[in-house]
Amino acid sequence: MMTENIKVGVSSCLLGNTVRYDGGHKRDRYITDTLSQYFQFVPVCPEVDSGMTVPREAMRLVGEIESPRLLTIRSGIDHTERMEDFCRRKIEELKKEDLCGFIFKSDSPSSGLYRVKVYTPSGMNSVRKGKGLFARAVAETFPLLPLEEEGRLHDAVLRENFIERVFSYRRWKDFLLEGPDYKKLIRFHTRQKLLLLAHSPRHYALLGKLVAGGKGLPPGELLSRYEEGFLEGLKSFATVKKNANVLHHLMGYFKTHLTRDEKAELLEVIKGYSGSLAPLTVPLTLVNHYVRKYDVAYLKGQVYLHPHPAELMLRNHV
Ligand code: SF4
Repeated sequence: MMTENIKVGVSSCLLGNTVRYDGGHKRDRYITDTLSQYFQFVPVCPEVDSGMTVPREAMRLVGEIESPRLLTIRSGIDHTERMEDFCRRKIEELKKEDLCGFIFKSDSPSSGLYRVKVYTPSGMNSVRKGKGLFARAVAETFPLLPLEEEGRLHDAVLRENFIERVFSYRRWKDFLLEGPDYKKLIRFHTRQKLLLLAHSPRHYALLGKLVAGGKGLPPGELLSRYEEGFLEGLKSFATVKKNANVLHHLMGYFKTHLTRDEKAELLEVIKGYSGSLAPLTVPLTLVNHYVRKYDVAYLKGQVYLHPHPAELMLRNHV
């Protein structure tokens, strides 16, 4: 897969741009130094891009959790309508960007995705249950787009899941660009099977049924139902238990080729992974070795074995 066409939206201050209310930035090295090698970032600062100055008075959300106002803290100026106008315009632009994901700055009343503080009108109390106004607009408009906050990307499990979904979304978009038909969908699905099984056995089964009976459906409906199921399924985390299940499952494709020692060695490393003694990359390195050695065509085509560049080291955690 070409990676230069993987476009990901990002809160501008995370790239080191000095757009914060205090004239500073919140550069995130993982984003600027690592992910930038694979993703083309589309920066958005909803506050500056909607015409606010740098520096500016700090703001916060006030009122209803689902529909708060965006007010400056000291003088109480209401920027809600300005921000909502901006969101409407920006969302139309983003629809043309072909984004595969979005990384938001946490805690911001404009950009925070999870647990943003919403204050009572007196300003005395707050609950961490809100969403920044721009983040909410993106989440509501693009319900299948992988979304995350920068802080959560420092958790190995959340990071792996988010990046895997971004690459998967690009694969799906590339498939759509090829001019999909029923046969091509079967081929696409076949290659995703083990990846889906690792994330959600339920979606693996549902999509298997959908594709098997898909010839009777209008093509547009089949594709949109597949897209929804595929991207929803990948939201579930690929846990140790589910990955171990996939490893045992894929052993079935070459166990008749393996010598007794090879089989014992593979079972041993899977056991080590299941017991959290080794990262997923350990059994997968051995699996990939046997897939090459015994030339197992079905497994060679499985995205699960190479869902993202190995250099990102997303499967190296225990
Ligand atoms: S958090 Fe959002 S609104 Fe605030 S400076 Fe960063 S990009 Fe701009």
